[in-house]
Amino acid sequence: MKSQQQYPQKFSLEFFPPRTEPGMDKLKNVITELATLNPQYMSVTYGAGGTTQEKTLETVRYIQENTNNEAAPHLTCIGASEQSVTELLDTYEAMGIKRIVALRGDLPSGMMDPGEFKYASDLVKFIKDTRGDTFHLEVAAYPETHPQARNCDIGIKWFKNKVEQGADSAITQYFFNFDSYRYFIDNCERNGIDLPIIPGIMPITNYENLIRFSEGCGAEVPRWLKCRLESYEDDTESLKAFGKEVVQELSQKLLDAGAPGVHFYSMNSVEPTLDIVKNLTFKS
Ligand SMILES: Cc1cc2nc3c(=O)[nH]c(=O)nc-3n(C[C@H](O)[C@H](O)[C@H](O)COP(=O)(O)OP(=O)(O)OC[C@H]3O[C@@H](n4cnc5c(N)ncnc54)[C@H](O)[C@@H]3O)c2cc1C
Repeated sequence: MKSQQQYPQKFSLEFFPPRTEPGMDKLKNVITELATLNPQYMSVTYGAGGTTQEKTLETVRYIQENTNNEAAPHLTCIGASEQSVTELLDTYEAMGIKRIVALRGDLPSGMMDPGEFKYASDLVKFIKDTRGDTFHLEVAAYPETHPQARNCDIGIKWFKNKVEQGADSAITQYFFNFDSYRYFIDNCERNGIDLPIIPGIMPITNYENLIRFSEGCGAEVPRWLKCRLESYEDDTESLKAFGKEVVQELSQKLLDAGAPGVHFYSMNSVEPTLDIVKNLTFKS
């Protein structure tokens, strides 16, 4: 964990752009409330294939104009061309955006053409080549190994390549097993990878959604956690209370071990993120 202990500890929040106007109105209230925590930045996801482009832009603009926080749009390769990325980067630069989360994305079902960028590393390289240091580039990292990587060494090899193309820091896929992060950092250190790798934290509020999400992205929900969550059945309040305790403890353990902060997948809800962050102790 030595490589990570040298960085200051920050926290950041992630939102996804809602499809409907009522959803957008609700999100704006959530953003306003969570902005009181003063995160380092608020990131906004981007639908692969540009499916949420307008809504991502609207949300990013809302954060920039209505809070004192930095907004960080996500950008994906899928369906993108050099021209479409250039146009979006021009817009972001004009808006004063300083940070971009650069990803590959996943091909939506029925879509065959990934576009001009095959991997996140291609996008990172393109942004660095054309914009220099205009944007701080965040990339994704996978302590439990990306589901399409044949093994963890291959996963690390391509992660290193992404870093060498110009990534400035990384946010991990969420995980519930502290050791997966510790061993991932250890593996990065042995492979000469040195940049802040911020654990992504998924709050637990709904059993079915968590299981569905986790199956899709290859994050493991450990058996003990699954069993306990299952046992609450319709008792949502007890499930949420237990979920909060688990996530609070994991987040604090990561910070105590020297992780350079935590990135919360807020799922567009104030709680439990607000309460968990308020109760975290960061290294001064
Ligand atoms: C913090 C975070 C935020 C996210 N935000 C979004 C979002 O806003 N929108 C969205 O659609 N998705 C998002 N995702 C999901 C992400 O797009 C998927 O996990 C996707 O499958 C991989 O994206 P990546 O950027 O990690 O891809 P890459 O780094 O390109 O890796 C994808 C796979 O290809 C392999 N690989 C990489 N380079 C090469 C190469 N040169 N040759 C062969 N294999 C290679 C890797 O090992 C890996 O298995 C997010 C994920 C995280 C962790």
